[in-house]
Amino acid sequence: MNLIFLGPPGAGKGTHAKMLSEKYEFTQLAAGDILRRNIKEGTKLGALAKDVIARGELVSDDLVNDMMFEEIKVLKIAKGFIFDGYPRTIGQAEALEKFLAKENIPLAAVVNFDASEAVLVDRLGGRRLCAVTGKIYHVRNMPPKKEGICDCHGQPLVIRKDDEPATILNRLKVYHESTKPLIEFYRKKGLLHDVPADGDAASVQKVLEKLFEKIR
Ligand code: ADP
Ligand code: ADP
Repeated sequence: MNLIFLGPPGAGKGTHAKMLSEKYEFTQLAAGDILRRNIKEGTKLGALAKDVIARGELVSDDLVNDMMFEEIKVLKIAKGFIFDGYPRTIGQAEALEKFLAKENIPLAAVVNFDASEAVLVDRLGGRRLCAVTGKIYHVRNMPPKKEGICDCHGQPLVIRKDDEPATILNRLKVYHESTKPLIEFYRKKGLLHDVPADGDAASVQKVLEKLFEKIR
């Protein structure tokens, strides 16, 4: 079963994609994670994406589509995908639709994480990542056992460059302009499920699990 996680930056897509993947054997395909991996590895794609991401803008549809299609082809044996943060534009959604039809991969549902602007700003401002694994924390909501250190192997936690206050505001603006129209795009197709995402992680996770049990 394949799902899309749609929502503004900071809504909890990555956190809950990881939690659901652990429980139900999904393969999480997070566009942002794959782009950051390319930057770290110094690939051509990474070089093209680096400054765009730092400004809080979107990487071009063609680059992101090709990147995601490659990943899907490689991982096609997976039981189910969670597309996390992809698609983010109508152009990407149309390209994905064509690609999935060609590859005979059905889309079961699009989960729309619905969170208020104040919550998003607070979450992005307090987000920390493990420098090695990318595990997601929040300084208050989901803190590590020891401040600034990942629980898994004691690696330092880092702040994403695009989680600076000015860039956060730009990313929210970009979300409203380019990504929010996808809500109606998928609602018209009968695929959209709204999930209120302002609550704590345990309560949001409960709603997601209930939804998942209903649609699978
Ligand atoms: P967040 O978790 O805050 O939603 P992501 O990690 O998903 O952010 O994405 C980080 C950045 O990577 C985005 O701001 C954008 O620059 C780029 N990016 C991620 N996904 C896409 C996409 N589908 N299309 C274009 N750019 C993307
Ligand atoms: P997204 O992938 O949508 O950008 P993340 O999953 O990275 O969002 O979450 C953004 C920040 O908010 C992280 O610091 C994470 O620990 C925290 N967070 C995620 N979900 C919740 C929640 N339901 N309640 C409180 N904090 C959350």
